[in-house]
Amino acid sequence: MTPATRSVSRSAQRGRWAAFVGAVLALLIGAGPVLGVEPGSGVAPSIKVAPGPARIVHHGSRSRPVVALTFDDCRDREAVLALVRTLRREGVPATFFPYGYAVRRSPDLWAEVAAAGFPIGNHTLSHPNLVRLAEGAVRYQFRAWRRIVEPIVGAAAIPYARPPYGAFNVTTARAAAQEGYPTLVLWEIDTRDWTRPPAAVIARRAGQGTNGSIILMHCGPRQTVDALPVIIAGYRVRGFGFVTIPELVEGTGPRLGRGRVQPVEGRRLDPPGHLIAS
Ligand SMILES: [Zn+2]
Repeated sequence: MTPATRSVSRSAQRGRWAAFVGAVLALLIGAGPVLGVEPGSGVAPSIKVAPGPARIVHHGSRSRPVVALTFDDCRDREAVLALVRTLRREGVPATFFPYGYAVRRSPDLWAEVAAAGFPIGNHTLSHPNLVRLAEGAVRYQFRAWRRIVEPIVGAAAIPYARPPYGAFNVTTARAAAQEGYPTLVLWEIDTRDWTRPPAAVIARRAGQGTNGSIILMHCGPRQTVDALPVIIAGYRVRGFGFVTIPELVEGTGPRLGRGRVQPVEGRRLDPPGHLIAS
């Protein structure tokens, strides 16, 4: 076999693999209806199809100097309070992704976080690795979060989900969309704050964002609480503002900028409740 034929045969093999993988993916996500044409029919289908998989977002538009601060898990009540007090004092919006059991444990706290205008996204009920679960179990994780959190936070619950550990596959994405979460929000900057590095290290990592960056932190280590004012000041010096995930991703939702924290669409910004104000 000459090098040329070997190369042809390899590329043919790659082609077959690509076709196979494509066919499997098409089966998984229903590529016919997604493409708008039923195979062989030559016309757009009139039947209504189930939603396709959720889209995956790592950052927003690069056209504006804004970043989105996000805080995950949020089992530590005191850390949530400290973060929210700093954000309010600085007039900085942020998006929280608590898991369901964390909200169920502190409904009074989360009602206040919501009333203060901070959007709250779905981070599943119990924080499992979703790629290890069957589709029904993944759907349950999103649905159970919604059942617990929405009655507590009302309109602050946003139709954005973040899979624990950032782990997802096509099943995760399809399950999310079917439960009303057409967007999975990942991140661009990972502070790895859960490993408890010094606050200065968290601040340095968090400060490496650019236009449209989504920054991942957690409501947990004290070091994150200590780093937050430094992170905010650093971006402001560089001329950046802060937006929520809905605003970053859709260009809609809460209208938040460098000024005061504003209410979630049409709602007045309530004065802080006794937890946040204290
Ligand atoms: Zn998490």
